[in-house]
Amino acid sequence: MRHIAIIGSGPAGYYTAEAAQKALGEAVRIDIFDAMPVPFGLIRSGVAPDHQSIKGVSRRYEKVALSDNVRFAGNVTIGRDVSVAEMQELYDAIVLATGAPNDRALDVPGEDLGNVFGSAEFVGWYNGHPQFADLNPDLSGRTAVIIGMGNVALDVARILAKSRAEFVGSDIVTHALDALDHSKIARIVILGRRGPHQIMMTPKELGELGELERAVPRVAETDLPPLEADAVLEPGLRKSVTLLRSFAATPESVRAEKPISLDFVFMSSPKALIGNDKVEGVKIEKTHLVDGRAVGTGTFETIPADLVVSCIGYRTSPIPGVPYDERAGRFANEAGRILPGLYCVGWARRGPSGTIGTNRPDGYSVVEKIREDIEAGALGPVRKTGRAGFDALAAERDLEVVTFRDWKRIEEAEEKAAREGAPREKFVDIEAMIRARE
Ligand code: NAP
Repeated sequence: MRHIAIIGSGPAGYYTAEAAQKALGEAVRIDIFDAMPVPFGLIRSGVAPDHQSIKGVSRRYEKVALSDNVRFAGNVTIGRDVSVAEMQELYDAIVLATGAPNDRALDVPGEDLGNVFGSAEFVGWYNGHPQFADLNPDLSGRTAVIIGMGNVALDVARILAKSRAEFVGSDIVTHALDALDHSKIARIVILGRRGPHQIMMTPKELGELGELERAVPRVAETDLPPLEADAVLEPGLRKSVTLLRSFAATPESVRAEKPISLDFVFMSSPKALIGNDKVEGVKIEKTHLVDGRAVGTGTFETIPADLVVSCIGYRTSPIPGVPYDERAGRFANEAGRILPGLYCVGWARRGPSGTIGTNRPDGYSVVEKIREDIEAGALGPVRKTGRAGFDALAAERDLEVVTFRDWKRIEEAEEKAAREGAPREKFVDIEAMIRARE
């Protein structure tokens, strides 16, 4: 029997478990660990609360979780409660599927001003992640500036723009719903350092901005390249740019009906955040493109801002004893291999890109590496104790391990506590989650 530990129960973790079951069958036991008492990582705390159909993928992971040779062990932080070296004594293979939960820094003066947040914090707030549930962003100002032109920027813009009624059916946590209900934000600037042809927004997600009840996207006609230039774009991007064109063509009479504007500001690189204690503006430098890169033109402007959310990407949390690529912000690895018996997958392997489904081939490919390494004798003889060894260590350390059955009780309590029309009301603190399983 071989024992595999997967660290992280988000998409990358569960696809890896599924792949290991298929490739190694009854000859393997798989333990999936999570620092949180609840599973599914990004599905629970990253995917937007109004994108419930995407969250539905967790049902597929649940099928894996409930199989005999797979076990969930929540509320265990590898690298703190148990070291990676200790895990290596217990398991033949360890796969780090820990994602990229930390914000990349903007690295500009003023980043520490009040009401400036990274998207991990802001998304964590409205999704009820215990670490960020108390963020308490001030939404009493008029203008929010969102930095970045990717899908996360779109999520944040949409959440800030939606009315209470538009959240029906979502699992946005009540503290965020109530705060957003009292929001005074009327202008949401989406700031890009490059142009319309360089956006990272996908068409379905961008299209949603055009269907909001009380907000309208605004794109200046003069910012768009000539129509013929779209011909060379790959089809997805071309669709997105076509949407920008339709936003630019929206008549002023239609725009005037909606009180919130979502203003696309291109070719503007953030250089400083300005304010005393709290942010008051974003100083930008206008840019032009040189070989696809944004280069400053020497022209500066300041955009007023009462709230800033930077949505410019994420970094993996380092774990003591695991080689880390500082520049890329992920584990140092060669196609998923870090050290003998130690692997990584998903965002922890390749950085924060791609959709949830991208993690599936990733999971299958890392399991292929494990299988090759077992066959080549690189993982040593069959002698590891796996979950029996882990359970002994957990008992010795008094760790309060949360099982999948416990999670089902927590889930039931969350479903019972749901607002009318909502699928659940999430617990936003770890103690409450742990208590709810009793
Ligand atoms: P992303 O797609 O990489 O976009 C990051 C944006 O930040 C880019 O526009 C980038 O501009 C900009 N940026 C980076 N550094 C900057 C800086 N220093 N100053 C100004 N702008 C900067 O990342 P993301 O939006 O965080 O999304 C992460 C992944 O999750 C993506 O693959 C995304 O598609 C996926 N996701 C999918 C969904 C969905 O399908 N519904 C929802 C959310 C996220 P440059 O291009 O100029 O670098």
